[in-house]
Amino acid sequence: MSADRSARLADLADLGARIADCTACPRLVASRRAAADAGAGSYWARPVPGFGDPSARVHVLGLATAPHGGNRTGRAFTGNPTADTLVAALHRAGLANRPTSEHAGDGLRLRGAWMASAVRCPPPGHRPTRAEREACAGWLTAELAALPDVAVVLCLGRLAWEAACDWAGVRPRPRFAHGAEHVLATGPRPGLRLLGSYHPSPQNTRSRRLTPAMLDAVIARAVTVAWSAHPQTPPAPAHRTADP
Ligand code: SF4
Repeated sequence: MSADRSARLADLADLGARIADCTACPRLVASRRAAADAGAGSYWARPVPGFGDPSARVHVLGLATAPHGGNRTGRAFTGNPTADTLVAALHRAGLANRPTSEHAGDGLRLRGAWMASAVRCPPPGHRPTRAEREACAGWLTAELAALPDVAVVLCLGRLAWEAACDWAGVRPRPRFAHGAEHVLATGPRPGLRLLGSYHPSPQNTRSRRLTPAMLDAVIARAVTVAWSAHPQTPPAPAHRTADP
């Protein structure tokens, strides 16, 4: 392993440990514990750090930790139906070594991608307050600083889009849509592209507001953009999913 990669891993591990100790939002400290008390089995019940490749070029950003997903398993996008949908699509795109994300010891590895939520604890009703979103924004800033190769932030849902715009200082915020794109002209990383996608929640997938083919297409776009000016070969897609 290169010295650079080792240093990044150490920085990200240190950041992850600091995130996991955060108690800045009293309501969310209570809600992560309440979800654990209501669920079955053991729960992480602490803030959930991001997960993935320290050389990530695509940062996949959700809104908030799922009460019985990341809050249970301790890993972002793990152990719930949203994780099933997202990681299967990342696998089809060649960004994940397996199509499922079940628990922290399942052997999942990402290539060129990182997954995290803008709010690292599970808010009641999946609705963080403005103060909670602002309190957690510093962790996203620190994480992106520790991931210098990120060229695309793939924002899952409008609130993730807003969090990414706030990180980048984009004002006014461009309108969110599935497939929306905004390239940073200034700010923390000029040239980085924000890419919008509907959130892969069961609500959106069951209603077919977001189909597998739509998710594949937006991830393929992220890969194309992220590796467009990079000497490395982009991940090879496993296969594509067409809408029936
Ligand atoms: S939501 Fe973010 S800022 Fe609030 S307690 Fe959790 S990790 Fe800390």
